[in-house]
Amino acid sequence: MAWSLLLRGGTVVDGTGAPGRTADVAIEGDRIAAVGPRLAGEAARTIDAGGKVVAPGFIDAHSHSDLFYFGVPSAESKVRQGVTTEVVGMCSFSQAPLRADQREVIQGWAGGIGANLDLRWETFAQYLDALRAVRPSVNVAHFVGHGALRIAAMGFEARPASRDDLRAMEKLLGEALEAGAFGFSSGLVYAPSAYSDTPELVALARSMAKRGGLYFSHVRGESSMLLDSLAEAVRIGEEGGVGVQVSHVKASGRENWPRIDDALGLIEAARRRGVDVTGDVYPYNAGSTKMDNLMPTWAHDGGIGKLIERLADRATRRRIVEECLVDGERWRTVSQGGIGFDQIFVASCRRRELEGLDLAQVARQSGRPPAETLMDLLLEERCTVGMVSFSQSLDIVAKVLAHPHLMIGSDSIPLFEGEGDRPGKPHPRTYGTFPKVLGEYARERRLFPLETAVHKMTGMPAARLGFQDRGVVRPGNAADVTVFDPATVKDEATYPDPHRYPTGIPYVIVNGAVVVDGGRFRAAGTGRVLTPA
Ligand SMILES: [Zn+2]
Repeated sequence: MAWSLLLRGGTVVDGTGAPGRTADVAIEGDRIAAVGPRLAGEAARTIDAGGKVVAPGFIDAHSHSDLFYFGVPSAESKVRQGVTTEVVGMCSFSQAPLRADQREVIQGWAGGIGANLDLRWETFAQYLDALRAVRPSVNVAHFVGHGALRIAAMGFEARPASRDDLRAMEKLLGEALEAGAFGFSSGLVYAPSAYSDTPELVALARSMAKRGGLYFSHVRGESSMLLDSLAEAVRIGEEGGVGVQVSHVKASGRENWPRIDDALGLIEAARRRGVDVTGDVYPYNAGSTKMDNLMPTWAHDGGIGKLIERLADRATRRRIVEECLVDGERWRTVSQGGIGFDQIFVASCRRRELEGLDLAQVARQSGRPPAETLMDLLLEERCTVGMVSFSQSLDIVAKVLAHPHLMIGSDSIPLFEGEGDRPGKPHPRTYGTFPKVLGEYARERRLFPLETAVHKMTGMPAARLGFQDRGVVRPGNAADVTVFDPATVKDEATYPDPHRYPTGIPYVIVNGAVVVDGGRFRAAGTGRVLTPA
């Protein structure tokens, strides 16, 4: 037997959650050929995996790398974490479908963070072809964003969908599924997804039920509305007849932290009733999104251009302050709960000197009240500001991570200009999510066995997405493999210094190509656009 690659003597943690065992893994081309102790055979190359764990390549169940591949196809910051597959098109945002006359609207809406790219496609199929053409290092599984469907069908308007609007959205959703989307995602705190009602989402779910489409939900509120919002997501899955994934499960805002037990209980109760509901979580107590999402959803009616006009209008600003400012010192929205201005950090901004500062610091510099500073900044920067905000509890993060039906999703928003540059202060989850779960939560804190940690980032998301041949190390499966040192694997990225690769992950193999090789990175362009089985 002659294989292309042989991983000799590692501990195979196969992704199913089963205990690790010493075994060799043989790879031929882009497939795993054999798994077993002391395999007899020749290989063009042999890697000594002794003392290391040989696991399936990690699957990031929730990512915002959509545009990243077009600027940085190597996706080095992901692959170095052991990630070989990403799920994108999340939280209602996707870059297609895209009507030619709406290019600017889409760019202001979903393209405001990161490089300004020229979006040439219109249909979802054309978009996926463009993605294939840039040859990313990772496999990509795509969802279509509910916001993109809504904008294409009915513009950026704060109103319920008419019957015709709904037919148009169903048609676009059908085309996206046909092209290779796994389902649709909502972002019910983000305009224009937030302008929908439950029946609209149930109807869309129903229209894709026969095809096995999935509904990934950034729910309507993660603060005071958390329980009603989860109940809505469950209802959409139940009445729509589709599987539901609750994105980045959390309770936002200190006053809402006690709601997390009821929230997890609600998911368990739905599962006992037979509803196919799962979720994902990232291992940090800060979130990250565009800073204009600190504005109420009504202020987004019509798109970013209209939001900017409102930010320039005194009466509207007063109305926003009256609605969001609590006790003169905290800012409260449905997505974040109430948080102090010193807990809201500038992640990316054209004014580079502000990156890494919190809004209380920026306000002291400008000599203006923090609420006015926030709106001044959005206005001056035309809403192209990214933020990192601390609204969660680390104790709850651990509790959610340990929940048996929740998997790992980074929710990362990479900041980029091109290969090799490192702009801004992105959330450290962009560089550290997977090694943090393995090193900090499994090894140091013993929150769960290593096999469980690996399962949550391999076999569990693969089952959720319906991947037939990824997420488990077994013969016949795609050769996506991550080799890490269980004694040293560690995230190095911090909030002040986020652009740092993790340590302890010497080999990452994507479809048989060794992309991280003895700690060295070499882009191979072997990632594929995955489509539902
Ligand atoms: Zn989200």
